[in-house]
Amino acid sequence: MSKIVATAAIRGAKKVVAEVEEFLNRALKEKGPDTKIEFPETAFFLPMAKALLNVDVKTLSEAVKILEHAKSLLPQEPSEKLWLPYLGSTLDAGMATLFAEEILMALRYLYGQEPQEGCNGFFSDTVLRSLGIQLVDGRMPGFAAILGAAPNNQIAVDIVRQLQERSILTFVGSSTNGVSVIDQLKEEGIEMGWDNYIVPYGRDTVSGIYALNWAIRAALTFGGIKSGEAKKCLEYTKERVFAFGLTLGELDDIKYATGAGAINMGFPIIADTDIPEIHPSGITIYEALVKELDYKKIVPRCITVRGFKVKVAKIPIPVLYGPAFEGERVRKENLYVEFGGKKAIAFEFLKYVDMDKVEDGKVELIGPDIDKIEDKSLPLGIVVEVGSRKANEDFEPIIERQLHRYINEAQGIMHIGQRDIMWIRISQEGFKKGLRLKHIGTVIHAQIHQEYSAIVDKVQVKIYSKIEDVEKQLTEARRIFEKRDERISGMTDESVEDFYSCALCQSFAPNHICVVTPERLGLCGAYSWLDAKANYQISPAGANQPIKKGPILDEKLGQWKNINDFVYEKSNKSIENVSMYSLLESPQTSCGCFECIVALVPEANGFLVVSRDYTGETPLGMTFTTLAGSVGGGVQTPGFLGVGRLYLISKKFILAEGGLKRIVWLPQELKEFLRNKLEVRAKEMGVSDFVNKIADETKATTLEQLLEFLNQAKHPALEMPALI
Ligand code: SF4
Ligand code: ZN
Repeated sequence: MSKIVATAAIRGAKKVVAEVEEFLNRALKEKGPDTKIEFPETAFFLPMAKALLNVDVKTLSEAVKILEHAKSLLPQEPSEKLWLPYLGSTLDAGMATLFAEEILMALRYLYGQEPQEGCNGFFSDTVLRSLGIQLVDGRMPGFAAILGAAPNNQIAVDIVRQLQERSILTFVGSSTNGVSVIDQLKEEGIEMGWDNYIVPYGRDTVSGIYALNWAIRAALTFGGIKSGEAKKCLEYTKERVFAFGLTLGELDDIKYATGAGAINMGFPIIADTDIPEIHPSGITIYEALVKELDYKKIVPRCITVRGFKVKVAKIPIPVLYGPAFEGERVRKENLYVEFGGKKAIAFEFLKYVDMDKVEDGKVELIGPDIDKIEDKSLPLGIVVEVGSRKANEDFEPIIERQLHRYINEAQGIMHIGQRDIMWIRISQEGFKKGLRLKHIGTVIHAQIHQEYSAIVDKVQVKIYSKIEDVEKQLTEARRIFEKRDERISGMTDESVEDFYSCALCQSFAPNHICVVTPERLGLCGAYSWLDAKANYQISPAGANQPIKKGPILDEKLGQWKNINDFVYEKSNKSIENVSMYSLLESPQTSCGCFECIVALVPEANGFLVVSRDYTGETPLGMTFTTLAGSVGGGVQTPGFLGVGRLYLISKKFILAEGGLKRIVWLPQELKEFLRNKLEVRAKEMGVSDFVNKIADETKATTLEQLLEFLNQAKHPALEMPALI
């Protein structure tokens, strides 16, 4: 343990605390102690203070208490004992820094100084939830925070590209000698944002707190850990949040101090300069502070030090490939050619054919390639033929649905939609780098083998680019699309023997388990019963297991003995009963990545539903974010339920409470998205013109307005038996 590190970290902590104290005093004087402070879109106030100290900081005067606590953590001048392999006072200084930095950012928000230009600022709870599923299914193995600036722009680009290729979400910011990695990337035209896995937080080190107070919320959101359980929170971040810090350029005191805070959370720091290393593990899983001076080795080094596994699929195409390119847009200015969309027809279709009719790896282009055609808007047909000893047409739509991801993950290609509403754009850069139509087939072949080797032995791809061929093939494809739709929509919970479990989210929410039935999809909206079943056949020991329903205990609640037993076992004996069709009695738990929340509105004798992308107020006086704060972490919360949005139109939707007729309020966007299906389902229940009887934010954002609207609209819930 190095005295240099300790001294610098403690000095840095003192500087930050002093700066915050001055700012806070100024704010108290200028605005008064009761002035509200807050971050946007979070239910956790100042998250570090909430998680570790269980204090809800809402005003300036409450921030004073946290700052006092931070001051009390500041050690005196480091003494000889710091020569021992003992991090104690350095870590305390680190924690003090994090508490202080968080207050500093909240003060900046109060003064309108955040977010900084071109930066994200505070990371919302919503983003955390929506990334949940990518984290648990392994698409995103972890997070990196880069602080400082690379010696030149090219090195900065190389580092983030390497992280992108490994699908690591990278936060960039801070500066070295007045230069920030953010601007280095900007100058090189690197697209940043959540979709690109590169998120700028701010140009100073203190704004790095955004990444850290985001990580700590994972413990509360997914881990079911109560605020104030500091030790458990820090253990959670160490064990389950795969993050590390990468400093570029000289380290100053503030970087040491913030780094010490990060180490406390179990996040190691890797530096590109000749710093003294800290090896003893315990706080972090492996080393705490290491250096790597060779930029070619720095990213792999980060990965070993944090100890996470990443898959890099090397696919022989002339552009980069990986999930980080999935969200990349190809805009008009940058467009080389497009297929489908408004101006042309395009489709994709995957089917099983006889094994001996498939030549593995064969990619055939039938028609001209993009360097041979002048027109910029073209028809396209992609037909994927797979062969397997375990051919099963139930798998076809599941593998076919991955084509979107596979194609999109190639740099320079944008893929939107599916089936016969597919739309592909290829960028000018992609074309210049040598991207051609056959590469789409190369990608599909490689990825299907990579992910579906258990149910696919051979893959060949036919790409049609002449209109007459496209039209002909499309007729055949449409016939099958229709057949598939009938197959899935006809399924009921009664018609199957087994439900499926999904334990994917346990890596994040250890006590949560989803039970997926034909009529109730996973709460993330990403797993249907068919998906779970297919996944089980692909990996029998994986996250999706069949559960034989066995004898039913309560038809209305949707409780089965075997399901209860299974859930009890897999929830670490924390959940005894679970109702598939009720939200008041033993409802399912939530991990945190739900698409929507259904919440009881007692006064209206019904429920409202709010979706993740709706940021406004609901008539309950709470936003999605606030509501979400009380659902999650694998605990049962009667009256609240996290659901996938398609569950709303299921015949089994909260059957025990009377079903769809209980819905009194929906955000307008969700309402429009589901309108036709809601109407059909309501008709089946004997209610006509139902959608217009449901309020939305244009009709009501308070309870009073809601009740008035429902009365006027003669909403059926008002006539139903009292809920409580
Ligand atoms: Fe997570 Fe449930 Fe979705 Fe599985 S179905 S990924 S456990 S939310
Ligand atoms: Zn989840």
